[in-house]
Amino acid sequence: MTDLAIRNVQVLDGSGGAAFAADVEVDGGRIVSVGKAGAAKREVDGEELYLAPGFIDTHSHDDGAFFRYPGMEFKLAQGVTTVVAGNCGFSAIPADPGADAVAASGGILAGVPTEFTDLSGYFEAALARKPAINNMMLVGHNTVRTMAMGMQQRAPTATELATMRSHVERAMEQGACGFSTGLIYRPGRWSGTDEVIELAKVAQPYGALYTTHMRNEGDRLLEAVEETLRIGAESGVHVHISHHKSAGKPNWGKVKDSLARVDRAIVEGQRVTLDVYPYTAGSGRMIEYFNLDKIDRALAEVIRIASCPAFRELEGRMLVDVAAERRMDVTDLVKEVLTAPLGDRTICIQFIIDEADVETNLAHADMMVGSDGIPDLRGRPHPRLFGTFPRVLGHYVRDRGVLGLEEAVRRMTSLSAETFGLLDRGRVQEGYWADLVLFDPATIVDTATYDDPQREPTGISMVVVNGEIAFESGAHTGVGAGKMLRYRQAAFE
Ligand SMILES: [Zn+2]
Repeated sequence: MTDLAIRNVQVLDGSGGAAFAADVEVDGGRIVSVGKAGAAKREVDGEELYLAPGFIDTHSHDDGAFFRYPGMEFKLAQGVTTVVAGNCGFSAIPADPGADAVAASGGILAGVPTEFTDLSGYFEAALARKPAINNMMLVGHNTVRTMAMGMQQRAPTATELATMRSHVERAMEQGACGFSTGLIYRPGRWSGTDEVIELAKVAQPYGALYTTHMRNEGDRLLEAVEETLRIGAESGVHVHISHHKSAGKPNWGKVKDSLARVDRAIVEGQRVTLDVYPYTAGSGRMIEYFNLDKIDRALAEVIRIASCPAFRELEGRMLVDVAAERRMDVTDLVKEVLTAPLGDRTICIQFIIDEADVETNLAHADMMVGSDGIPDLRGRPHPRLFGTFPRVLGHYVRDRGVLGLEEAVRRMTSLSAETFGLLDRGRVQEGYWADLVLFDPATIVDTATYDDPQREPTGISMVVVNGEIAFESGAHTGVGAGKMLRYRQAAFE
């Protein structure tokens, strides 16, 4: 008798192939058969719903969420069973217990405790909280650079570069899936291309990735893509472009040129993949987007406040509306918010992306899905934190027909698992880990909105993580079966 039998489902196995009717049997955390199930301790009637591999969120900032919110409800309810953390150059490791990682990352690493220094230590500490889902980790350039040379606005010395290299190396040895940069952020923006190439090279012998929040996603998008491809080519590493977009109205449509350039690189033999979130707004630390001496009015006019420890009353509001009420200039309001005590911790939502570009991105065959959600449940976070995966399947697959269901599931599962080195995951296949999501393609949809962003989606009836039922009929079971995964290796024990 096996642990679990899910009978009478349409299996979407993650390969991109058509769904087929079967039962799926799970034992000891793994899928033991796909076909006709025997008797099991727990029987589930799938009622002809669709059973897919658990979704993989390739772009998360959940490093600290594993400590703050180990139930990871906002991901689990979307069908996400694994996240990749450490993105945009900010990672929980390496860590100096004496330093303030939260401040250095502008809050991206909020929740990360100071009880470890390296990836193995992080894994051990996170596992002790019994996380609901699995985690993969990137090691971040901004974090490593801050440790080696603080906020110095210059190239590293040979010694500083060697220190950075050793931090990246140690993370790779311990199972990081790659090296990430956030080249618009501090201190990454002060690094030259050569520095990044030298550090990306460390990932090469491991076959791991270089992932990047590129130096520019607006006026200079195409130059930034060139830089990214050069870093990949010269370091010999697979490059993955994070949250691909063309920001700012004058730049809308440029994603076509950017994707054409990526396609050319792929044809020439370079390994390049990307991810996108299915929304027309970005979100991040507001202070990173403004020069206080010359405030960008066009940007200020499309900003909504997500969380603001300095002025909680602004959360959920467009700056233009507040400025009009107060009869003040919107650029003065930006300055007031950002220069207040804790003002630099403000997280904003900026409506800077064209809907047509979102669809162009989602139609691309090497495009994965990454939420880029910032897991701060105070205030009103960007709805992508709760809604990303069901939004792709409901809105873009079912309603808009931008891509097919089988293909969308492939790009949320097997493509991500193979790219990010998740061993034996991302497919409904005998021998694979039983990370599974049972959903109804006719009803699945996100319900989180900008006004009410903390709502779980509908249409997902069950989520299984490592063979354990973690979410069922709208309830989180609290089983805590998540693992800390290592690149192309067995999970951390
Ligand atoms: Zn980013």
